[in-house]
Amino acid sequence: MLAGTRNTVAWSALGHAVAAYDAARTYCGQRVQFGKPLVGFQIVQERLVKMLAEICGMQLYCLRLGRLIEEGRFSDTIAALAKMNNTSKAREVILAARDLLGGNGILLDFHVMRHLADMEAIHTYEGTETIQTLIVGRDITGVAAFA
Ligand SMILES: Cc1cc2nc3c(=O)[nH]c(=O)nc-3n(C[C@H](O)[C@H](O)[C@H](O)COP(=O)(O)OP(=O)(O)OC[C@H]3O[C@@H](n4cnc5c(N)ncnc54)[C@H](O)[C@@H]3O)c2cc1C
Repeated sequence: MLAGTRNTVAWSALGHAVAAYDAARTYCGQRVQFGKPLVGFQIVQERLVKMLAEICGMQLYCLRLGRLIEEGRFSDTIAALAKMNNTSKAREVILAARDLLGGNGILLDFHVMRHLADMEAIHTYEGTETIQTLIVGRDITGVAAFA
């Protein structure tokens, strides 16, 4: 059961990250500072591209989860690895989005903070990032380090 729910959490994290990225990309296209939209600054572009790169990695995890389920080769370890990776990366992406919105990033009106709050819940439920790490560590080493 936990492997199944960890699969859904990996997908949820991806959804929150995409939504936050989309909000940041839109906002930076509209917000004018120093005479031009924020997307016109190199550092802003770099940050958006890094967010996108993390999202693409999360998408590949989710695609792989779906294929393994279809093939009947889904396991506790891959579920833990995907949940650990995607919740960790989604938190990074959403925090970057929240920062790119400046002061508006903490307002509910711009939605990024909603995604951050939801992420904090799924970061913990179905097992924390640390516990997912230890599940994968047990598999690759043969040694259980948590019990
Ligand atoms: C929004 C939300 C909804 C939830 N819904 C449900 C639900 O429907 N059903 C349900 O049964 N539970 C639910 N939970 C509970 C959730 O699964 C637990 O909160 C989660 O598994 C962490 O357990 P804990 O809170 O007891 O933390 P603890 O186990 O007390 O962990 C506290 C900290 O210690 C760390 N830690 C614990 N053990 C080790 C170790 N061996 N080595 C290193 N670090 C360790 C953890 O990673 C964490 O950072 C929900 C939680 C939240 C936040």
